[in-house]
Amino acid sequence: MISFPKSIEAAAAGKGTLRAGGTDLQELRHLGVHQGDLVDLRDVAGLDRFELDEAGLHLGAGLSLATVATDPRVIDGFSGLAQAAGGLATPQIRNRATLAGSLLQEVRCWYYRNPHQSCAKKGGAVCLARQGDHLFHACFDRGMCVAPHPSTMAMALLAHDAQVELQDGSRLDIPTLLGDGSDPRRTHALSPGQVVVAVHLPLAEPLERAAYGRAISRARAEWPLVEVIARLWLDKKGKKLTEARVAIGGVANRPFALPAVEAALVGQEPTDEVLAAAAALATQGASPLPMTGYKIKLIPGIVHDVLLRALGDGLIVPPPPPVPEATGEVTP
Ligand SMILES: Cc1cc2nc3c(=O)[nH]c(=O)nc-3n(C[C@H](O)[C@H](O)[C@H](O)COP(=O)(O)OP(=O)(O)OC[C@H]3O[C@@H](n4cnc5c(N)ncnc54)[C@H](O)[C@@H]3O)c2cc1C
Repeated sequence: MISFPKSIEAAAAGKGTLRAGGTDLQELRHLGVHQGDLVDLRDVAGLDRFELDEAGLHLGAGLSLATVATDPRVIDGFSGLAQAAGGLATPQIRNRATLAGSLLQEVRCWYYRNPHQSCAKKGGAVCLARQGDHLFHACFDRGMCVAPHPSTMAMALLAHDAQVELQDGSRLDIPTLLGDGSDPRRTHALSPGQVVVAVHLPLAEPLERAAYGRAISRARAEWPLVEVIARLWLDKKGKKLTEARVAIGGVANRPFALPAVEAALVGQEPTDEVLAAAAALATQGASPLPMTGYKIKLIPGIVHDVLLRALGDGLIVPPPPPVPEATGEVTP
């Protein structure tokens, strides 16, 4: 049965699984991995909020990713977030998929999505990918399930210190929303009856520069092998990095911040040398599986590239070393 509640309260009280854009849920149902009643959020009032005020940016849970990617208020003040939303999936998916659905989608693991396989996420005893084919999976081993967390927006919102508002008014930060990844059955920490109504982001700093980038196994319409967002602040003279937020996804069962990279940037001159040295720290703590060592090689390059793109014309290029004066002597 499908119900179409009109209010957030009715949706929370509804019987069945919430469906937003349906781009993930319907696929799971077609595959036979998900069954049961649905509570469709199509007619629920209030999920399309879009406000920018002195407290920050307030995005309704039902906004499409296309809106997040293309609205000038996001592009101007939260450019890394806009790039992340615009860089995932396909235009068709971005038009249909919602902000909350993107945060709460399921993993892309081929064992999980096979209805004939009982992996740890479905209550089985072991992670089948860990023992089998895990080519696209984690290179930071942070729990039994090694499927990378699929949400680009979760990674981007983590770097924005975003808070997710639930139907009862409570707010969760992204790490709390997702949980720590130690329970292989959970891709996020919400329970039935909990409805995401909005996502709140603090205002961006006026001098912020940001970028998003990914390594991907085909040109488009694919989840990333590695994805990174960087937000950088420069001092007024543009001579020093005063703050940095860098987060990574596609490499563990949860997206996470890169504090060692951030610490290596803050207080430094924004030169390529500084960015490259900071990027090299992004693999600290990595623990690749037999088939995911290649991701360790990808990470520093992607992080470096995203940092460079975030800085843009803020990069300080040191003058070339002086050329020794010609002596007129000819070396044989
Ligand atoms: C080819 C392809 C490539 C893709 N690449 C990427 C990528 O690179 N990065 C990425 O992040 N995603 C990617 N996606 C996935 C896509 O972003 C998700 O399918 C989409 O974001 C899910 O949003 P939805 O609104 O359709 O969610 P749904 O499928 O409707 O729901 C997903 C989950 O969210 C829950 N839910 C939805 N709304 C709420 C709410 N308000 N409160 C509580 N629970 C809720 C549902 O119950 C369900 O469990 C890709 C998809 C495809 C097909």
